[in-house]
Parts: sequence; structure tokens; C-alpha cells
Amino acid sequence: MKDCIFCKIINGEIPSFKVYEDNRVFAFMDINPISPGHTLIIPKNHAANLMEISNEDLAAVHKASKKVMAGIVATLQPSGVACLQLNGAGANQVVFHYHLHLIPRIPGEPDLPVSGWEIKPGDMGEIKATAEKISGALNNG
Ligand code: 5GP
Ligand code: ZN
Repeated sequence: MKDCIFCKIINGEIPSFKVYEDNRVFAFMDINPISPGHTLIIPKNHAANLMEISNEDLAAVHKASKKVMAGIVATLQPSGVACLQLNGAGANQVVFHYHLHLIPRIPGEPDLPVSGWEIKPGDMGEIKATAEKISGALNNG
């Protein structure tokens, strides 16, 4: 898509540090890494978010993430790897081309705020009502 930074990276119009590519997927280093090895995995077909991406591209991105993660684990020996995917400006998505972040957790690097939220029991009535609304919208009983 015109004016999409990640489409330009796939086309080679913007340089990137590629780590993996197949017929559906491109994976490259994030230039503002949260920790060393921070990698982005994207579909070659433009899709803004999880709502738009095709099932085939979604599966391909996540299959590729297993391969890339194996490379990260083998080379960087992280204590863990966070997989993060944001949808919409309200969720702090900045680039509107679907991407899965692989963020190695390297001891000594800053904590990931999103993975360290406080565990607080919710209101069961509220949780149940919300579940019913969502499942009703899915028509799955
Ligand atoms: P989001 O908040 O949309 O999930 O994250 C977008 C990510 O894309 C950010 O982590 C940002 O550092 C990365 N990014 C933005 N522009 C570029 C770029 O031109 N090249 C690379 N490699 N990463 C980028
Ligand atoms: Zn794009």
C-alpha cells in the first residue's frame, strides 16, 4: 500500500535488517528495540490489523514466528520472549500494517510494562455479562 512504511520495507524502498522471508512473510529488526533482538514479523500482503489480515497470512506470520524465535533463543539465550501485537491507536499501534513483535527478555534490560500488570480479581458478574455480550456477537451460543 502506498505510504505504508512496512510495505516500503518489503519492497526494499526503505532499508531494513532482514532475518527471515518466505512467500507470505517478512521479518526484520525493529529500529527502536525494546531489548536486543527485538524483531517484527509482518505479512507481505498489506493488512492494517487482526481484523483485516487473512487467515492464511495470519497463520503464516505465526508459523514464521516459531522459526524466528528459535533463532533468537539459539543466538541470544534470552530468559523469555514476549510476543506482542497491537490493534488500533487506542492500543498504541503506530504502524498500521499488521506486525507481531518478538521481544527477547534479556536479564538487566528494562521490564516490559505490558507483561507485568497487577493481578486483581475482577467482578464476576461484570465478567460474565461481558462474556455473554461477546459470545452473543459471535453467535456461538
Ligand atoms: P506498534 O506500536 O505499531 O506496534 O509498533 C511499531 C514498531 O515499528 C515500533 O516498535 C517501531 O520502532 C517500529 N518501526 C517504525 N518505523 C520503523 C522503520 O522504519 N523500520 C523498522 N525496522 N522499524 C520501524
Ligand atoms: Zn503496508
